[in-house]
Amino acid sequence: MITRRKLIAGNWKMNIMLSEGLKLANSIDEYINSQESPDCDLLICPTALILSDLSEKLINSSIAVGGQNCHAEISGAYTGEISASMLKNSGASYVILGHSERRHGLNETDNMVQLKVTAAQNAGLNAIVCIGETENERETNQTIAVLTKQLENSLPSDSSILNGTNTIIAYEPVWAIGSGKTPTNDQITEVHNHIRECLDKIIGEQANRIRILYGGSMKPDNAASILELDNVDGGLIGGASLNAKDFCAIVSAID
Ligand code: PEP
Repeated sequence: MITRRKLIAGNWKMNIMLSEGLKLANSIDEYINSQESPDCDLLICPTALILSDLSEKLINSSIAVGGQNCHAEISGAYTGEISASMLKNSGASYVILGHSERRHGLNETDNMVQLKVTAAQNAGLNAIVCIGETENERETNQTIAVLTKQLENSLPSDSSILNGTNTIIAYEPVWAIGSGKTPTNDQITEVHNHIRECLDKIIGEQANRIRILYGGSMKPDNAASILELDNVDGGLIGGASLNAKDFCAIVSAID
């Protein structure tokens, strides 16, 4: 049987400047070092502006750093954009792609996400590909259809390059992000099992190695019950990752 090591990833979004970020990363690192090494991978995704400093600070730590987005092109006349290799060069090993704040706030399409995932993987980054339904889509029973389409169209068409290291899926219901609302455990299980089946169809043998994270109002008080569900291989944490105590409590919720 394949065991997938859980991943707990913090998405700091457009929060936290350099000195605060270094302090927060340090507190998380100290906590991790004070424990028997946590049985999971850890990731922090700060603003790209402090990626280099954070990755230097965490050079001897087990905490990885990642970007929150990248451009699909390798380089060129794309004012204000950041390429995957620039993230890599700044010390990132992961990048979050297709976050709902980009899909819905900045009109990012599946096709754009697909190109970014390809660029990220070609640059040697592990792509965390986010998918999720809106509240209206859930209420009108479209959840499974919406997620299937997002998954099929956001992953690179050459699925032979996808594996359990360079591809991570994050199920993030749009209505759960930052709202304090979460799906029931049965709803999360239904979706994660479905994603696993879709991955199986798209990728075949490697599908069982790919981690599927849950994201959306994961907090210390609900983390343990979500993280123990079948096919939940970790969490993508927004608000609660901005506070060392809450983020570490979520890490501790993994048994
Ligand atoms: C997110 O934005 O990826 C997220 C999960 O946010 P929150 O934990 O704040 O709901």
